[in-house]
Amino acid sequence: MLKVTILGSGGAIPRTCRELVSALIEVDRYRILIDPSEGVTRRLEAIGVSALRLTHVMVTHLHADHVNGLPGLLATMLMLSRVTPLTIIGPVGISDLVPASVNSSFKVNLIELKPTDKVTLIDAADNVELRYVTTRHTIQNNSYLVTLKRPVGRFNPVKARELGVPVAYWRRIQMGETVKLPDGRVIEPSMIMDDIGAKSLSVAYTGDTAPSGSLVDLARGSTILIHDSSYLPSDVNEARSRGHSTCVDAALDAREAGVGLLVLTHISYRYGCEYHWDFLKCAASIFPRTLVASDGLVISV
Ligand SMILES: [Zn+2]
Ligand SMILES: [Zn+2]
Repeated sequence: MLKVTILGSGGAIPRTCRELVSALIEVDRYRILIDPSEGVTRRLEAIGVSALRLTHVMVTHLHADHVNGLPGLLATMLMLSRVTPLTIIGPVGISDLVPASVNSSFKVNLIELKPTDKVTLIDAADNVELRYVTTRHTIQNNSYLVTLKRPVGRFNPVKARELGVPVAYWRRIQMGETVKLPDGRVIEPSMIMDDIGAKSLSVAYTGDTAPSGSLVDLARGSTILIHDSSYLPSDVNEARSRGHSTCVDAALDAREAGVGLLVLTHISYRYGCEYHWDFLKCAASIFPRTLVASDGLVISV
């Protein structure tokens, strides 16, 4: 399963109805926070996720609206006596935002990514893969792709019972894991799941970006694309000068990349929440499988 929770959907300045942009991606054993914006620790707490449970923090770029919550998040981890390692991934300069003092409590695996226009593997462990590419913004912005490589299918409880597989093992098998039972039998997912295939689940997260061919390469075929949609088309000139996308840009990228679902986010402060439908109509007329992010939105696939 891959689960995305939108923690914030606003750009640059928070509004009552939109906190600053951020998302939590839960996949396999990974809990990845993307863009630790101001107040993100409190928002994690509001959805019942302790800062101690995060495995990764990924920062798209170093503009304040994407990264100002990082010091507070790390301080909270220190206060809670975190001991498990944390991986922090970001653009060049991210290391300056991580105080050396955190290493006295827990190990920080810091990955500082150089700009690249080629989709590049950051990390591949277990069945999860992380990739990135640098896209077009006013400073280095990394767009990320998180992929669950496990085969997916439909769990068939009748088959599980016929084979005498204890319920305690069902979830692991559902997640694509091959398990060994106490009686020594090895059960592979293909023995229990129907319509199993090699299909991956993936989520691409753009950060702040103007339309970019490298972004389409990254997102190609992804299950979910969470895309900068700062502006309506009437403000396209401002979008271009500030290195952002409009709802039209996001929809065209989604269509070209052939994604399963487009989620518009980083809605500019200037648009109150009454503009929700304007953004939806704008993008859905080009790419029908579109949602406009709202804070607290959860998508599970
Ligand atoms: Zn921003
Ligand atoms: Zn920015």
